[in-house]
Amino acid sequence: MGGVAAAGWLVLFLLLQEGPLAFSSRALLRLNPKDYAKPDYTLYHQKSSILQAVQDTVNANPRTMKLETVQEEDKKYTSTMQVVTVEPAGLSSDHASKARIFIDYGEHAREFISAELGLRLLQVLADPAAVIKAVGDEQRGQHLITLLDRVVFTILPMENANGRDTVERGQLCERKNGRGVDTNRNWSVDWGKKEKDYSAAEENPGTGPFSEPETQLVLELVRAFQPHVWLNVHSGMEAMFVPWDHQSKVAPEASEALKIIQTIKRDLFTSKCVVGSGGKSVGYLAHGTATDYMFQELKVPLSYTWEIYGDLKADSNDCFRMFNPIGRKEVEATIELWLKATFRLIELLPSHPAVSSIFQSHSSSSSDSGRNGSGSSSSSQSVSIPSVQAAPFAAVPPLATEISSSSAMYPSNSAQAWKYAFLGCAGMGMLGFLVVRVFKRTGPSPRGLVKSLEESKRGAWV
Ligand SMILES: [Zn+2]
Repeated sequence: MGGVAAAGWLVLFLLLQEGPLAFSSRALLRLNPKDYAKPDYTLYHQKSSILQAVQDTVNANPRTMKLETVQEEDKKYTSTMQVVTVEPAGLSSDHASKARIFIDYGEHAREFISAELGLRLLQVLADPAAVIKAVGDEQRGQHLITLLDRVVFTILPMENANGRDTVERGQLCERKNGRGVDTNRNWSVDWGKKEKDYSAAEENPGTGPFSEPETQLVLELVRAFQPHVWLNVHSGMEAMFVPWDHQSKVAPEASEALKIIQTIKRDLFTSKCVVGSGGKSVGYLAHGTATDYMFQELKVPLSYTWEIYGDLKADSNDCFRMFNPIGRKEVEATIELWLKATFRLIELLPSHPAVSSIFQSHSSSSSDSGRNGSGSSSSSQSVSIPSVQAAPFAAVPPLATEISSSSAMYPSNSAQAWKYAFLGCAGMGMLGFLVVRVFKRTGPSPRGLVKSLEESKRGAWV
């Protein structure tokens, strides 16, 4: 009978927990639509102001930054995109000897935080002192600056500017482009395959691979740039993914790239951050994604999707809250954390076989690097990166350990047996009472609860 009591309390305990069983919390937090979060434009830029801020940043840094605006049209639907080149050692026409990093922000319209991170990265890259501050350590910051001399970036601050208009007009759940296509399903690897949980409202892949002007523009840019790193920045959860998205396994050729994000996680994140293949970790398979294409067809050795924020407890219709931090402190903390992750990625690049030689040649030919060698150009060949403090792993829930180790929970005589039987009944009774209250207060029918459990298992469309 003590087992019954333990089971009763365990169920109660689990219901009140966060984590994998947080489905109950999402149901609990069902809000009145009028309480859904809206973008606070004192914290987030509107589209026009973010594009202006990008332009201002580039204009103020003509030695290291260049802005182009590219455009593509299909059947009177036009996509216009800002493309920023950043070359910290000074703009040059030859990028063959550089580590080339392509970062795509703002692909999904409702994920405002992605574009904010892109703008901030530009602003920080403009100023070595800001780079050091972002890293949070003078010595590591200085080392990073020497690495950045061998890096060139192509940055899309807002891939999906048309979809962003839709969101700013009030459709806060929209993620697709200006004519209703998810450009992150519009690539040719496994294009158009539909899973059982396929949702056209979220994943419409278009009329064929590359049907969308946005996809065509990104393809053209990536082909010309030939990046070593493709980084597609989204939100909806906290995660770093390598291919595959369309299969639930890590591509063997991505194992070195995987090691890098595992290290970033170890150094900067808690256990909440999911690392692995997109298809396995996000809870659903995604077909026709950009990251799978970059990896399979363009052979970009470090192909990543990063998911930089998600409120998994938010009501599934409260989209701005699901995909974006709400308060000033949360916005700032998210940006600072993922700036650190971005710079950590660059610190770790020399460990990847596909780019290590670029950083090795740095030390042997530092004299011809073209950069006005600041006195301390004594870069070391073996890139020893000081280990940042490892984030502690999440503690094991105390009750779990108590239960597994508590033989004392089991009765040794009949008096105790009665005591535990009573406790067990009380526990179950209280659980029943709570469940009734939950339904009374929030109103989801049992069917609604099952639906939200399914949603939770799948996760948000990120
Ligand atoms: Zn997304």
